[in-house]
Amino acid sequence: FAGNNSDFLKGVVAMSGLPSADRIEVCFAGRSNVGKSTLINALTGRTRLARASNTPGRTQEINYFTLADSHYLVDLPGYGYANAPLPVIEKWQRLLKQYLSGRATLRRAFVLVDMRHGIKDVDEEIMSLLDSSAVTFQVVMTKADKVKEKDREKVMAQVREKLSKHPAAFPELVITSSEKGDGIPTLRAIIAGLD
Ligand code: GDP
Repeated sequence: FAGNNSDFLKGVVAMSGLPSADRIEVCFAGRSNVGKSTLINALTGRTRLARASNTPGRTQEINYFTLADSHYLVDLPGYGYANAPLPVIEKWQRLLKQYLSGRATLRRAFVLVDMRHGIKDVDEEIMSLLDSSAVTFQVVMTKADKVKEKDREKVMAQVREKLSKHPAAFPELVITSSEKGDGIPTLRAIIAGLD
């Protein structure tokens, strides 16, 4: 993608607010602080693009970005927000379930996992939801620059072991560092190759 024609489109709070399903889309999920905004910014080649999703009030929305006029990039904030009131969490989870099981143009979910920490219980929850929604998901390891080459294999082995129990998991992991730019072209190519 050229990157210069990506834009924040809208924040969606109900299924009725989704843009028309006229192009392929991919979604990004991850615990807060995993590096999701930074990765989306790196992918789209913009510096402020994903900010919107981190502003208070936007955390329970499905945030749509356009990507090169041919794809939607969907930011799914809101998991790992244990501090939110229960009704808010439940409303969000309902919307998330409806979105994941009802969006025909959704081709793949990318679940971001911090390379230093591996897969946590909250990650398992979203992965199980993706399994039951039959949405293929691919794990993107973030912040690879923070883990020495020699220590990576141990985390990767844990991730692979956990993924083996999820039928919707795509086996190949993507290793990224938004800081260094590692893995960003690979991820872009994966998205561009989906049809
Ligand atoms: P989000 O909550 O998942 O959207 O996380 P952010 O994108 O806001 O990132 C959380 C923190 O991790 C910020 O301080 C980022 O600068 C940092 N960060 C994100 N990606 C990387 C990376 O690839 N390498 C390093 N070293 N830090 C990163």
